[in-house]
Amino acid sequence: MGMLAAKLLSLPLPQTNKRLLTIVETDGCFADGIAVSTGCELGHRTLRLIDFGKVAATFIDTAEERAIRIAAHPDSRSRATAYYESAEKSRWHGYLHAYQIMPDSALFVAQPVHLQFSLDMLISKPTHRVVCSACGEEIINQREVIIEDQVLCRGCGGQAYYTWSDQAFSDTLPAAVIGEVIS
Ligand SMILES: [Zn+2]
Repeated sequence: MGMLAAKLLSLPLPQTNKRLLTIVETDGCFADGIAVSTGCELGHRTLRLIDFGKVAATFIDTAEERAIRIAAHPDSRSRATAYYESAEKSRWHGYLHAYQIMPDSALFVAQPVHLQFSLDMLISKPTHRVVCSACGEEIINQREVIIEDQVLCRGCGGQAYYTWSDQAFSDTLPAAVIGEVIS
């Protein structure tokens, strides 16, 4: 999929700069494969996960502001049987072999897309730092929200993916062993 993206966007991949930004739609080994083939990495802020649980990714040429979404073709698995070598050790190996020799058109659906969010905001300013006025934690990359003139982290701004737990880590460690929780 990464190689097809390189062809469609006319970019040399894996990249050695930060021109390509890739949004993967699932985690797991698929995401690792995309990272290797594109050179996009979480550590470089060029790989993002929007978890739709799909074998799909959107490849964004940030210089040209062009985006192409590539997904596994709905029929790719059934089509693979036509390329399946009966001598393969297992069905898994059969699919692996088939996927390596199948043409892109049998494997993928590729379509140009418009992003529904600001690319500038996704990339954001890496040097930007503020402090949440509720929890005191630092927020980087412009991920704060402003509610009633208060600078808040997303957690304090009502988007938390957790609630505080009173459960101790173990019999010997109290719940708030690291430090006092500001509330
Ligand atoms: Zn906060």
